[in-house]
Amino acid sequence: MPLAPAGFTELTCAQSNQFVESMGEPGYRAKQLRKWVYQNLALSYDEMTDLPLALRQRLAKETRLHSLEPAQNATGQDGTLKTLFKLADGKTVEAALMYYGREGGGERRTVCVSTQAGCAIGCPFCATGQQGIERNLTPGEIIDQVLYFARYLREESKEGKSAGDKTGGRVSNIVFMGMGEPLLNYDALWPAIEMLNSPDGFGLGARNMVISTAGVVPQIKRLSREKLQVGLAVSLHASDNKLRDRLVPLNRKYPLEELIQACQEYNIMTGRRLSFEYILFNGINDSVAQALALAALVQGLKCHINLIPANFTADPTFRPPPRRVILAFENELKQGHVNVTLREPRGQDIDAGCGQLRSRFLRETGLGTGKSPRMEKVKNVS
Ligand code: SAH
Ligand code: SF4
Repeated sequence: MPLAPAGFTELTCAQSNQFVESMGEPGYRAKQLRKWVYQNLALSYDEMTDLPLALRQRLAKETRLHSLEPAQNATGQDGTLKTLFKLADGKTVEAALMYYGREGGGERRTVCVSTQAGCAIGCPFCATGQQGIERNLTPGEIIDQVLYFARYLREESKEGKSAGDKTGGRVSNIVFMGMGEPLLNYDALWPAIEMLNSPDGFGLGARNMVISTAGVVPQIKRLSREKLQVGLAVSLHASDNKLRDRLVPLNRKYPLEELIQACQEYNIMTGRRLSFEYILFNGINDSVAQALALAALVQGLKCHINLIPANFTADPTFRPPPRRVILAFENELKQGHVNVTLREPRGQDIDAGCGQLRSRFLRETGLGTGKSPRMEKVKNVS
């Protein structure tokens, strides 16, 4: 009996080989199928013209090719495209496509994907954290977000919009920084990364992928031992336990001492530096003394700090500081010889912060009926 998986992208390379063989087909068919799905970005089995018709018909009956339905799209002034996807069970997740350096020839096209519907960690400044956890995403649901934007970029490139673009209208980077805590869904995250990386799959270099975590210490250690050189970003936001307990409640389980030690281990085991994300909140974590404490905390680590002025969310407690405060904080870190970059927020005008589009969607539209005034209907590329 064939395995009949819910979706083809749920399968690892080995599983798709097994699946195709269990249908009585020669082994090379699995490779052909993967090429259609991950390289040619096929929308349906009909397109796979080098596969026998009977096989295509059987696959179409037994195995879904896509697990996501784009429900809403929003495009920001900076070009950021944010999409809200509906999953097969009606749950929703967001993902985004961000263009960096478009003016200078389109250096990067970064896709930011979700790994969970909602999040259990409950950071009070985060729109996703306020929605609670619904469930883990499957590997296929994670991969399909990337394939959606890859298709979108292909369409754009056909329309000539990416002329002169060095990445040829393709996804150049993937960041696991959408909704959810990736390291609390490691068992789905990792097969998804392997398929996105595999030359037999999507074929993107592991070095072009970054996992962002609130600090799940045992899983950071696990990641440090993986062969694939995927990047790590740790959402720090505070340099003392008292404040971090409040901003990132996971800190109560894995306090800063343990987190920093795991980061040191990551440096040593992988030979790579890591990034720290530090969102600046007005009057909360933005003082010069806190900048000094941050510099002291990361001393000795091979790292880079990304300073990110907070996005506006519904909660007025968490606002970005005035510009001069942000610059003073950055300057203090520079004085302390810390590698630091001040990030301009992307897609501010379209609620591009983590989980913001979805919470607006749920708030304004109920459960997917109607449209928010700032959103357009999607170009159907899924
Ligand atoms: N759970 C993981 C990854 C998803 S959150 C993590 O926390 O790292 C991705 C990023 O969005 C995190 O750095 C998070 O702190 C940030 N984020 C959430 N709410 C934000 C807000 N209101 N303003 C700016 N960044 C925000
Ligand atoms: Fe979860 Fe990350 Fe949002 Fe915190 S910031 S609630 S860990 S998604």
